[in-house]
Amino acid sequence: MTYHIHHSLTVFLILFLFIFAACEKDDDNDPSGNDPNDRSANRQGVGASANALLAQDQYQRLVVEVQFPSGFAPRQQTLDNMESFLDRYLNKPEGITVRQSQVSGFGDDAYSIDEIRNIEDDLRTMYTDSNTIAIYLLFVDGERKEDNNNQTTLGVAYYNTSAVLFEETIRNLSGGLGEPDRYKLETAVVNHEIGHLLGLVNNGTPMQQDHQDEDNGSHCDVDDCLMYYAVETGNVVSNLVGSSVPTLDQQCRDDLEANGGK
Ligand SMILES: [Zn+2]
Ligand SMILES: [Zn+2]
Repeated sequence: MTYHIHHSLTVFLILFLFIFAACEKDDDNDPSGNDPNDRSANRQGVGASANALLAQDQYQRLVVEVQFPSGFAPRQQTLDNMESFLDRYLNKPEGITVRQSQVSGFGDDAYSIDEIRNIEDDLRTMYTDSNTIAIYLLFVDGERKEDNNNQTTLGVAYYNTSAVLFEETIRNLSGGLGEPDRYKLETAVVNHEIGHLLGLVNNGTPMQQDHQDEDNGSHCDVDDCLMYYAVETGNVVSNLVGSSVPTLDQQCRDDLEANGGK
């Protein structure tokens, strides 16, 4: 009887060791040496990777994964503008790559940020790995669930390397009579959300001088700066008509430079 129990335990232990050894072997076969299922590097708070994105000591390359359902792709001009913006401020000597892919439609009228996180879990394919840091931008076919008559959301940065763009809302507010070109509004919102991933304002990238609009969170108090709070709400729209896309003011630029950017 005692022997029998002992024997079963031995079999169990051997089986356990075998499974453990098999996992180890998988790891050895991954050329990067990283666990491909480990997403923890991309599941931190907004601003946590500001220095890793701006400086080149940890990561020399950047890849931006852009996903959208059928019929909701951003303008090519928007992605070109985003690439110029990244190239202007980030030290990535081995290059910045933008990868777009169409994904199957989500089909909801509105999305909460928790739902967006779940969609990212299902669809994102590029994660930070060896010398490459990855950003994920999801364009969705609906509005933000929390929106109402007093609140319009065009985009939200929700992890250290992730942001959502409410493309349906962006389209409703652009391209028509008296409205800005769609690429202008898209560019403003995409670059603004990337600004949050870069730690602006005072959220991962320290301020060189005080310019935080504390009533509106991690935003800049200069009203024509890209990081002014109204850029991610509907309020920016009329300002964009007949003018160029907002850029970072000197104080935001100084902050990025002091945190490893250029
Ligand atoms: Zn913002
Ligand atoms: Zn600013």
